[in-house]
Amino acid sequence: MPAHVSYDAVIVGGGHNGLVAAAYLARAGRSVLVLERLGTTGGAAVSSRPFAGVDARLSRYSYLVSLLPEKIVRELGLRFTVRKRTVSSYTPLGEGGLLVGEGRTRASFAALTGGEREYAAWREFYGMTGRVAERIFPTLTEPLPTREELRARVDDATAWRTLFEEPIGAAVEERFHHDLVRGVVLTDALIGTFADAHDPSLVQNRCFLYHVIGGGTGDWDVPVGGMGAFTDALADAARSAGAEIVTGHEATGIVTDGTAAEVSFRTGESDGTVTARQVLVNASPQALAALLGEEPPAAAEGAQLKVNMLLRRLPRLRDRSVDPREAFAGTFHIAEGYEQLATAYQEAAGGRLPSAPPSEIYCHSLTDPSILGPGLAAEGCQTLTLFGLHTPARLFTADNDAVRTELLAATLAQLDQRLAEPIADCLAVDENGRPCIEAKTPLDLERELRLPGGHIFHRDLAFPYATEETGRWGVETAHANVLLCGAGAVRGGGVSGVPGHNAAMAALGR
Ligand SMILES: Cc1cc2nc3c(=O)[nH]c(=O)nc-3n(C[C@H](O)[C@H](O)[C@H](O)COP(=O)(O)OP(=O)(O)OC[C@H]3O[C@@H](n4cnc5c(N)ncnc54)[C@H](O)[C@@H]3O)c2cc1C
Repeated sequence: MPAHVSYDAVIVGGGHNGLVAAAYLARAGRSVLVLERLGTTGGAAVSSRPFAGVDARLSRYSYLVSLLPEKIVRELGLRFTVRKRTVSSYTPLGEGGLLVGEGRTRASFAALTGGEREYAAWREFYGMTGRVAERIFPTLTEPLPTREELRARVDDATAWRTLFEEPIGAAVEERFHHDLVRGVVLTDALIGTFADAHDPSLVQNRCFLYHVIGGGTGDWDVPVGGMGAFTDALADAARSAGAEIVTGHEATGIVTDGTAAEVSFRTGESDGTVTARQVLVNASPQALAALLGEEPPAAAEGAQLKVNMLLRRLPRLRDRSVDPREAFAGTFHIAEGYEQLATAYQEAAGGRLPSAPPSEIYCHSLTDPSILGPGLAAEGCQTLTLFGLHTPARLFTADNDAVRTELLAATLAQLDQRLAEPIADCLAVDENGRPCIEAKTPLDLERELRLPGGHIFHRDLAFPYATEETGRWGVETAHANVLLCGAGAVRGGGVSGVPGHNAAMAALGR
């Protein structure tokens, strides 16, 4: 139970963003209470041991870090580091493939495409996104710029048109000619977003933008110790600044007059209320509306499959030119050719599972073995995390268990086509002799984490500029003392801490 009946700020949800907000507010001298419904903090940014009797602490949901500003790590004094991956990506094709990284990118492009043109286009395109990243990323922790201010900051008419005005499919098709290269570029527009490359809503562009601006470089790095190390560092920072965090406490209602609020909650045993001058909500916009008893915003829907595995050893590849330790150190693309992605989208939009489900896979323990217990590390075990695309929640509603089983089998069959041995032969087993593999559908994520429709960003991402509906920081609601401090805020989504930081700044009147 909370220690007090009244606080300066109550934060609903102890996901990483709620913890960032708590740490900033407590450090500013505010009394802070965090209410988290689950038994642990971290939300979608946690580590856990999902396999019985096996000492492997997997980043169970989110797994790579790009959007977390160094400024937040520094200002909160977090004991947390990330490590660069030696390989950025590997995409197999028949007996060959495309390897990006390790100084082999140019040669790999030449071997795949038979010339220099595609590599030159790649360099030019990512040179452009790199310059945009340098200019936009620092704005994420400032008050929202207007669209015109952001355009002036980008100061590149082609980049602006490509990223902010035309469906990203246009640029991909104009600049690249090889289907596999086009597919690799497009995936950044589809991770966590169910869309076609030419969707006029530009939701795929917004997703692409957030995937290429992180850290001012667009690099995706490995959280040392796993995602749980990050959120544990945040919880420590919040607590040591004086914030109170209670788990197993679910907020059930918010009543506010704009200057003071009452937050009701329930635990396994009882109900209670606390009062606060301000309420920051780390839960989704849907949950916020329900807490206030208001009309919910438009429904959100996730479209991904998440699979966690522990292997006895990495599988051998059909492509003999690449060591599995290189291929799996980066993002390993499966069935993500441009045409394959378009077909998968059409099939799923038409109401059925993709016949060749696209996915990407990566091995954390190659870059950071600290998540494995000493026995597993000595045996050469490795973790694999797979993120599947284009399987919207609606496909699972009739029978979640059966569709999960069908999709997992089809996804692993696609992986097996790229391997010289079945992945099933490489899986470790738990203490009950069961293979170490688990799969989560959007409906599983909704049930476990309250992600609306399983949407990993709480709702579709927004361009990082002000609109008529947004306030100064992109976290404001219709109530002066209620702020969003989670992924559903403008510039939310991903493991970034940005909406947590911005909500704290808004609460402090900065
Ligand atoms: C499978 C998966 C893979 C991903 N991969 C990546 C990745 O590699 N990199 C990346 O940057 N991003 C990734 N993401 C996205 C990223 O994890 C999320 O966008 C981000 O973690 C959201 O953080 P948050 O703190 O805003 O919200 P959440 O993590 O959703 O936390 C919200 C918290 O609020 C709690 N809560 C909800 N309702 C209540 C209530 N009524 N009372 C009390 N508590 C409540 C929840 O239990 C939860 O702890 C991934 C997400 C998923 C699901």
